[in-house]
Amino acid sequence: MKCPHCNIEVNENFSNNFIGNDKDGRYNLLWMNCPNVKCEKFIIKLQKRDNLNKVIEEYLVRPITASRPPVPVEVDKNFSDDYNEACLVVNFSPKASAALSRRCLQNILREKAGVKKGDLANEIQEVIDDGKLPTYLIESIDAIRNIGNFAAHPNKSKITGEIVPVEIGEAEWLLDVIESLFDFYFVQPKILQEKRNELNKKLADLGKPKMK
Ligand SMILES: [Zn+2]
Repeated sequence: MKCPHCNIEVNENFSNNFIGNDKDGRYNLLWMNCPNVKCEKFIIKLQKRDNLNKVIEEYLVRPITASRPPVPVEVDKNFSDDYNEACLVVNFSPKASAALSRRCLQNILREKAGVKKGDLANEIQEVIDDGKLPTYLIESIDAIRNIGNFAAHPNKSKITGEIVPVEIGEAEWLLDVIESLFDFYFVQPKILQEKRNELNKKLADLGKPKMK
């Protein structure tokens, strides 16, 4: 498993203590320290089991975190804050999560895709018509309006941060799309830039002109 603090692959080595029963089930507490010397933080889980001792629910108690990988370091804070909070609450309140995600998505479309400020449905249309994004991203963004049933919930488009009912899978879909956009707008350009710098260094060593 990956340590939920440092995201490094570690061997599971949980101590396991039976706490007791209540009318809903049996409870066990599991804990271990992350073996990564730079981390060493406690990872603590609470398990609920049935009468046959089969695990039926499991909660991460420390860290309280989203079941998603951390935001890449390349992503600016003004985008990652909303996304992180949206991840954190998605299991407890998909409505709140989706509202944060819509706001985050709108920010990305305005700041990175350069769409004109309008309502979210039109901004999505603009980025689709623009044709600058790869097909997989265009299809994913387009699906937001359908999955979210924007036609029936106009405020999802007009007031993106408003808490309104969500459809099944909508909050998760928004997080998936934002994750892909982070990769496209922040991570991939950085990788490309680093490769270009490396190549230019080699070219310079060979006394050849730089790549443009
Ligand atoms: Zn760790």
